[in-house]
Amino acid sequence: MLKIGCHLSSSKGFYHMGEEAISIGANTFQFFTRNPRGSRAKPVDEADVARYLDFAGRHGISCILAHAPYTLNACSADEHTREFALLTMEDDLRRMEYVPGNCYNFHPGSHVGQDIDKGIEEIATILNQILKPQQHTTVLLETMAGKGTEVGSRFEELAGILERVELKEKMGVCLDTCHVYDAGYDIVNNLEGVLQEFDEVIGLEKLRAIHVNDSKNPFMSHKDRHEKIGQGSIGLGALRRIVHHPKLKELPFYLETPNELPGYAGEIRMLSD
Ligand code: FE
Ligand code: FE
Ligand code: ZN
Repeated sequence: MLKIGCHLSSSKGFYHMGEEAISIGANTFQFFTRNPRGSRAKPVDEADVARYLDFAGRHGISCILAHAPYTLNACSADEHTREFALLTMEDDLRRMEYVPGNCYNFHPGSHVGQDIDKGIEEIATILNQILKPQQHTTVLLETMAGKGTEVGSRFEELAGILERVELKEKMGVCLDTCHVYDAGYDIVNNLEGVLQEFDEVIGLEKLRAIHVNDSKNPFMSHKDRHEKIGQGSIGLGALRRIVHHPKLKELPFYLETPNELPGYAGEIRMLSD
């Protein structure tokens, strides 16, 4: 059975997300650790977490994925912006220990005026400060579309970050189908080739999660606009081949398509059967 879910609002807590996931036929979900604009996180509600863990155990929910605020920039030229990313991610990882054994995904960042190698160095520096040997969360770098000066639209860039991280066993990659297609990896016509390239450059064992999104824009557009499943340039057939691929089908899949809950329920059915 597929491990599949979608992005849910975390504003009402873990138990509520668990109930929503079950209501749409999901067995996992993704959520923002705080307001995506990066404001202060609410304190962890331990009673809510306990209730959620019991519910998740009874309903087979697992592999939930926390997503860092997308406004963080771990490779900004501005030191205070980098410091803010470090403190936010450190706090998020501390909070994730309440739901141990899951993953935490973040956008590597945009190097803006600096060069890409400097950006890669800075991201790795921050990871080396926040990763702890005793943590129970795997931190994932998301593959990016290559909008502006985003780091992480080439597998080599993600490999460059991973190489520089000391606690390698705490790290992995989350592949976003819209982003990689926008970035110029042809998962529609050459899925085998893309997976082979991922394996050679990063290592398929590092792939820990997949964001399943269609794209509003054509191949290699570097735009990053998600579309509903089957209504974009990637299409239902290609996305079904991904979620059922023998090398990928054990991974957790998360929809980040422009939908409300009924739309997500439909997409889970379209991809699962
Ligand atoms: Fe993301
Ligand atoms: Fe994504
Ligand atoms: Zn995106």
